[in-house]
Amino acid sequence: RPPRVRKPDWIRVKAPTSTGFAETKQLMRRLNLATVCEEAACPNIGECWTKKHATVMILGDTCTRACAFCNVKTGMPRAVDPREPQHVADAAAEMGLQHIVVTSVDRDDLADGGASQFVKVIEALRRTTPATTIEILTPDFRNKHEAAVEAIVAARPDVYNHNLETVPRLYPTIRPGARYYASLRLLESVKKLDPSIFTKSGIMLGLGEQRLEVHQVMDDMRSADVDFLTMGQYLQPTPRHAKVEEFVTPKAFDAYAAIARAKGFLLVASSPLTRSSYHAGDDFARMRAA
Ligand code: SF4
Ligand code: SF4
Repeated sequence: RPPRVRKPDWIRVKAPTSTGFAETKQLMRRLNLATVCEEAACPNIGECWTKKHATVMILGDTCTRACAFCNVKTGMPRAVDPREPQHVADAAAEMGLQHIVVTSVDRDDLADGGASQFVKVIEALRRTTPATTIEILTPDFRNKHEAAVEAIVAARPDVYNHNLETVPRLYPTIRPGARYYASLRLLESVKKLDPSIFTKSGIMLGLGEQRLEVHQVMDDMRSADVDFLTMGQYLQPTPRHAKVEEFVTPKAFDAYAAIARAKGFLLVASSPLTRSSYHAGDDFARMRAA
């Protein structure tokens, strides 16, 4: 077996031990909410939960797909919990969130792909914490994306995020259940339906992509009118997942960020530990204030 690439120093993070971390964990358990922070084994969990930033994962903790980079478990998910939208809103209220990121597993088993649950979550948040800005990070809704996107856009989240995850050449191995151009079209359709909603997307680096392929993805996103871009280092959650081909240096992340800004993105987050929800609220608030 070839030796595994050693994690460089810039990837190391502190162990989660703070009171804020423990409180966030208790709250999520009490309200029966899953988080992508835990399910995706996010390296930032210590920092984010200490500051009481968490990304809620609705529609359960079991996904109908099995992407090669993702730690979320695959299987037949449980029935949708009708109390979940209010629980998300209660969590936002208790944590005093100015900005919330809500994502979900893929629910290819549901007739609407889970779109109506996103709508209910947005409605519950607007009722319970009207000052909280809402960012949703949705799946691609496979062949029902038009109806799903229409319903969610009509509920008016502040930011609509859908990640392209990687360059098109790597889709068959890394994101086998998805289609690159379908994801791009989804992002484009959000903007066409309601130009006042900010659109956002992201990719992971270190999966074997070439520099020019990354530039092409940026161009594709800009031609779909995507406003915000995130880029972070892919980390292999377990030996069963796709392996890390390269640890991209912080300097290379900065160079990508400069190119992305020149291409016209309104917000760019690009660093080894960037995840689509990392510092999302702070960045969004700063951009709106500018
Ligand atoms: Fe959770 Fe996002 Fe922070 Fe990771 S970066 S711990 S997923 S809020
Ligand atoms: Fe993970 Fe999303 Fe892929 Fe499901 S669809 S395996 S949650 S990345």
